[in-house]
Amino acid sequence: MATTLAERMNILQGSASAAVMARVTEMKRQGADIIGLNVGEPDFATPDHIKAAAEKAIEDNYTKYTPAAGIMELREAIADKLKNENNIEYSAGEIAVSSGAKQALFSALMAIVSPGDEVIIPTPCYVSYPEMVRFAGGTPVYALLDQEKYSLDVKEIEKAVTPRTKAVIICSPNNPTGTVFDEKSLRALAELAVKYDFFVIADEVYEKLVYGDAKHFSIGSVSPEMRERTITVNSFSKTYAMTGWRIGYAAAREDVIKSIVKIMSQVTSAVNSVSQKAAVEALRGPQDNVAVMAAEFEKRMKYTVERLNAMPGITCPEIQGAFYTFFDVTPYIGKEVDGRVLENDSDVCRYLLDEGKIALMPGSDYMQKNRLRMSYATSMENIKEAMDRMEKALSRIRDIGKM
Ligand code: PLP
Repeated sequence: MATTLAERMNILQGSASAAVMARVTEMKRQGADIIGLNVGEPDFATPDHIKAAAEKAIEDNYTKYTPAAGIMELREAIADKLKNENNIEYSAGEIAVSSGAKQALFSALMAIVSPGDEVIIPTPCYVSYPEMVRFAGGTPVYALLDQEKYSLDVKEIEKAVTPRTKAVIICSPNNPTGTVFDEKSLRALAELAVKYDFFVIADEVYEKLVYGDAKHFSIGSVSPEMRERTITVNSFSKTYAMTGWRIGYAAAREDVIKSIVKIMSQVTSAVNSVSQKAAVEALRGPQDNVAVMAAEFEKRMKYTVERLNAMPGITCPEIQGAFYTFFDVTPYIGKEVDGRVLENDSDVCRYLLDEGKIALMPGSDYMQKNRLRMSYATSMENIKEAMDRMEKALSRIRDIGKM
């Protein structure tokens, strides 16, 4: 049959978060008052000075194709940022501007993974990593994060290493767990990467959202040997509330970046010129909005963790970064409510949506069962109301299920 789809479509699953979003949108359309705690984007507006730079770019007719790797002005601003803040020296030729971190991650995997290569992903993990690895022809291999604190468990990673290991993808601050990997464990992972000679793709999109004593550390800064093996990925989406502008970047040694740019030049040509000008302003302009946003997230996080841990049967570990909580709902699994057994985390999630009118994400979408992910990137008022609703909906399960 000539009109069938490509075989590669059989290996790619649609985004789980998009599926929850579709159900929430439909329920809202039918008039339901849902509080969305499922979305991974800041609820803040892009700062005015960044928007003004974009307006100026349009007025100046800065609306043509740009070099595929991104405009020099932006690549230089990114290189300065990486040197000053992350302690890694990259030249502008070692930076590729991408359509969000997602395109950087995908292009990086396309550039380094051959069929049959293995890519180790600590779990729970961001939903797109396994799909991207498979789409690039590789095999995702999972290694659990520490199960109490969700810290990086380098021993588990070492157990997963084989001669086919091409890369490890790390995400710190972590989506979905909200943990920040400490310098010691990142140095231990760097030692492994050099010993077994694999890449580390470091997804640092939440780097500015760290709380308390936690400190973000970039693995690429460990040593020149590690710099050669690191692909640092970052984005303007979360730091500057610019999710819709679709702009991020990858930084790595020159041959890796040249390959990424080759892919992008054939597929998208370049990121849109206006977003690139806005991104220059984001990096070079005032940074006070970032601190204001992070302080607000920290306040919400503390409130959320306290409320969650006060609910019988819920365990939520300490959070150090990003804007998610990832909590254990095991005692609620297997309970019957309204004639339906809650068989797994997806059922608990569905129950909370139908009964409590709150939208969360099931942990199994992030490769970890019996957990739920909640984003607190919404107003304090919404969070308070959502926690009340959740408490009520869970107490119903306890009453009916005799917990
Ligand atoms: N990496 C992680 C861990 C994320 O959570 C997200 C977005 O949710 C992305 C990458 C994608 O970010 P961008 O909007 O820059 O493509």
